[in-house]
Amino acid sequence: MTVMRHLTILGSTGSIGENTLDVVARHSDRFRVIALTANENVNKIFAQCQRFRPQYAVMLDAISAEQLEKKLRAAGIDTQVWAGIESLERVASLSEVDTVMAAIVGAAGIRPTIAAARSGKKVLLANKETLVMAGRIFMDIVKQCRAILLPIDSEHNAIYQSLPRHFSGDLASSGVRRILLTASGGPFRRLTLSDLNYVTPEQACAHPNWVMGRKISVDSATMMNKGLEVIEAHWLFDAVSDKIQVVIHPESVIHSMVEYIDGSVLAQLGNPDMRTPIAHALSYPERMESGVKSLDIFEIAQLNFEAPDFARFPCLRLAYEALSAGGNMPAVLNAANEVAVESFLAGQMPFTAIPVMIEQVLQAISRTEIATLDDVLTADSMARDVAREWLACQA
Ligand code: NAD
Ligand code: MG
Repeated sequence: MTVMRHLTILGSTGSIGENTLDVVARHSDRFRVIALTANENVNKIFAQCQRFRPQYAVMLDAISAEQLEKKLRAAGIDTQVWAGIESLERVASLSEVDTVMAAIVGAAGIRPTIAAARSGKKVLLANKETLVMAGRIFMDIVKQCRAILLPIDSEHNAIYQSLPRHFSGDLASSGVRRILLTASGGPFRRLTLSDLNYVTPEQACAHPNWVMGRKISVDSATMMNKGLEVIEAHWLFDAVSDKIQVVIHPESVIHSMVEYIDGSVLAQLGNPDMRTPIAHALSYPERMESGVKSLDIFEIAQLNFEAPDFARFPCLRLAYEALSAGGNMPAVLNAANEVAVESFLAGQMPFTAIPVMIEQVLQAISRTEIATLDDVLTADSMARDVAREWLACQA
C-alpha cells in the first residue's frame, strides 16, 4: 500500500518547483501539497493554489501576500496566506508535513532549509547554496534530528544512485576510489577567451541541455555551478576534494559516476530532465513514473569527455580553493558569486568580471572559523558588502 506523503515546496514558482508540481500532479494518490512558497510571483503561485489547493501559501513580502490573499478569496479558495522568512521556516517545519522540497535559489534558502532538517523531515535538497555556506552545520543537524536527506541536483542524485543502497557515509569503507562529477561545460565551452568579454545575459541563460532559473544558468556558464557542486559533493558524501574529479561531458546524458577500487565505474544515465531526480527522491526507496521520455541511446550514439580548462573557467579553481581553505571561505565565495551574477544579469558588469570580483572578495576577507549559523550569515553579509564596494569602485 502506498503511504500518502504531505509536502511543502519551498520555491514552488521556480524551475525546480514547477517540475516538482508536474511530477506530483501525476501521482495525486501519493502526494498532497500542504504548502507552497514564492518570492514575489503572485500570479504563478495563485495558479498553483487553484490547481493544488494547499493549506498554506507563503510570499516573502507582505504586499505580495496581501495581493495573493485577495485573489484567493475572490476565487473562493481558502488557502491561508502568510508572509516573511519566519513563515517560510514555519511551513518547512509543520507537523502535518513529512517531506520538504528545498528549491529556493541562493542564500535566501538557508534558513527554511535548515528548519526542515531541524524538524526531522525528509529533505529533498535542490538549494545547494545551503551546503556550500553551512555544510558542516547542516549535515550535523540532519544527523542529530534524524532528517532524511536526498539530493535533487542531478549529479548528486546520480552519485547517490550509484553508491551502495545503505551507504554508510564513508567512501573508503564502501570501496569507492573517486567520484566523477560530470559537467556540460555550459554554452561558452568553445568560445575564445576574448569573445567571453562580450557575452550577454541572454546568451548565458541559454543552456544547451537544461532549462533552469537565471542564477544557476549563469553559474553553469561560468562553471561556478560545478564549483558549488564540488563543495556540495564534499559534504553530502564526505569526499575530500582530490577524490572529486570534474569531467566535461557535453551531452549531459551521464549525470555522474562512482569509481570503485576494483575498477568498476557505476553511472546513472538519462535525458537531461530534472523530473527524474525529483521523482527518484519523492518516491525513494521505490520508483515511480516521472513523465520523462525514454533515453534514446541510438539517437545519442556518442558520448564525449574532456578535462576542464581552469584558465577558461577560473570560478572552478576559486571554488576548489575556497573548499580547501574551509571556515568562512565557501560562504564568502557563494555570497560574492551571488552579487556578481546579479550584477552581470543587470548589465552592470561583463561576464569575465564575475571571477575577478569573486577573487577580490575572497582576498579581502580574512579566513575565520565557522561555529554557528550566525557566523555563516555574518560571512555572507560581509562578503556582499565588500562585493558591492568593489563594484562601486569599478563604475
Ligand atoms: P528559480 O530562479 O527558477 O526559482 C527560485 C525559486 O525561489 C522561486 O520560486 C522564487 O520565488 C524563490 N525565491 C527566490 N528568491 C527568494 C527569496 N529571497 N526568498 C524566498 N524565495 C525566493 O531557480 P531554480 O532554477 O528552480 O533553482 C532553485 C535551486 O535549485 C537553486 O539552488 C539551484 O542551484 C538548484 N538547482 C536547480 C536546478 C535546475 O534545473 N533548475 C538543477 C539543480 C539544482
Ligand atoms: Mg547540477
